[in-house]
Amino acid sequence: MNRPIFPALVLLVLSNALLAAERNGLPATDQRGAKVKTLDTRRTFPEISSRAQWETRAREIREHVLVSCGLWPMPEKTPLHAKVFDRVERDGYTIEKVHFQPLPGFYLAGNLYRPLGKGAGPFPAILNPHGHWRKGRLEDQALGSIAARCINFAKQGMVAFSYDMVGYNDTSQVPHTFANDPTNLLWNISLMGLQTWNSIRALDFLESLPDVDKKRLACTGESGGGTQTFMLGAIDPRMAVQAPIVMVSHSMQGGCLCENAPGLRLDYSNMEIAATSPNLRRVRPLTSNAVGAPSPNTSCKWLPDRGPNPPSACSDASAPVRRLASAFRPEYRRGRAAGRSASSKALRQGCRRPRRW
Ligand SMILES: [Zn+2]
Repeated sequence: MNRPIFPALVLLVLSNALLAAERNGLPATDQRGAKVKTLDTRRTFPEISSRAQWETRAREIREHVLVSCGLWPMPEKTPLHAKVFDRVERDGYTIEKVHFQPLPGFYLAGNLYRPLGKGAGPFPAILNPHGHWRKGRLEDQALGSIAARCINFAKQGMVAFSYDMVGYNDTSQVPHTFANDPTNLLWNISLMGLQTWNSIRALDFLESLPDVDKKRLACTGESGGGTQTFMLGAIDPRMAVQAPIVMVSHSMQGGCLCENAPGLRLDYSNMEIAATSPNLRRVRPLTSNAVGAPSPNTSCKWLPDRGPNPPSACSDASAPVRRLASAFRPEYRRGRAAGRSASSKALRQGCRRPRRW
């Protein structure tokens, strides 16, 4: 006889609990039961009505990036103990081997490309984080060559530094699966955090070179190197210009462990993080891949392209970043063309004429 009363009592208790939660300022809907957001979930850029509104949001995103990467508070910058050695000379440029310690006892390796026959400088200097090429910073094939890019920069009168992703080439003390267990992630210790710290220290290394102009520092990279570029740009104000390539996306947000710090994109996307740079007017999100050879499949999935076969269903995801930057400075449009030559041009212009950016 009493059975029908039990469900009614449960409903009554639940509804009273919801009302009490609302009175306490808690939302009526538990978002933990909502649709799970993945790296492929389509993102939108928020409507921004004023510069002040964006700067407030950008500050929140910047702090969120730092916390997510385990860099809040910022670790102590210990001595790099940089070693530059085994110089070789070629037509218009030199190459040297480099290693230094981003953290005491942890070594990061790379190659330093410098102009030859163009005086003693100081020269603009460009960081070149590489993407997920099988041969890392030493990849040299028709689709892309990190060495060719750096030689190109050096022959144009710029210092270029290419450095390893964690677990690639000579930086092999820990693998590219570093800190992938729940305990580390719970404490915001991650592969992405370590690589982002490496990029900060790589900028420190460039600044320490006597032939580098500290006011004309830049960064460019493709794929995973594009992610490293805009992550560095979001939290480090020292760069005169940055050109992240293919990863400023409204859909695919980066599929590797090194692109996914804990909680990074719960509320924000690559588009917003890229626009967070303290020097937003100097951000050049480029839509083509690093070699200027458009790939419809890649560009549709990752970022729409203006190549010969652009997927019509896609819109340009880097457009919101450019629009935002344009609102800050109209002549921004100069560097937005796609492709490696445009990347080189944008960096060259940005580095050579810092006062106009
Ligand atoms: Zn990776």
